[in-house]
Amino acid sequence: MDCIFCKIAAGQIPAKKVFEDGEIVAFRDINPVAPTHVLIIPREHIETINDLEPGHAAIVGRLHLAARELARQEGLAERGYRLVFNCGPEAGQAVFHIHLHLIGGRKLSWPPG
Ligand code: 5GP
Ligand code: ZN
Repeated sequence: MDCIFCKIAAGQIPAKKVFEDGEIVAFRDINPVAPTHVLIIPREHIETINDLEPGHAAIVGRLHLAARELARQEGLAERGYRLVFNCGPEAGQAVFHIHLHLIGGRKLSWPPG
C-alpha cells in the first residue's frame, strides 16, 4: 500500500504525533495553515469520504471525539477552531486516506477559499 498516511500510522515515516491509540493517529500537518493544524486519521485506509459505509460510523465519530480533546489540549475549546474533511478534486483533497483537519489559533475567514 503506497499511502503516506498509512506509513505515518505504522511509524514507517516520521511525523509529529500528538495522539495515537489502536484505531486513530493524530499528527501535526507538515505545512500548517494556522498555529494549530493537526490531522486526525483512522488507521484503516479509507480513500475518501465517498467511500464511507455504515460500519464506519463509530470510527468517524471517534475522529471527532479525538478532535474535541486535542482542541481542548491546544487551548482552542473556547477560542474556536475548525474541523474539515476535504473530499475530491474541487475541495483540493491531496492525500487519499481520510483525514480530519483540526485548524485553529487564529481568526479563520468564512466562507473558505
Ligand atoms: P488534503 O488537501 O488532502 O485535505 O490535505 C492533505 C494535508 O496533508 C495537507 O495539509 C498537507 O500539508 C498534509 N501532508 C501531506 N503530506 C504530509 C506528510 O508527509 N506529513 C504530514 N505531517 N502532513 C502531510
Ligand atoms: Zn492509507
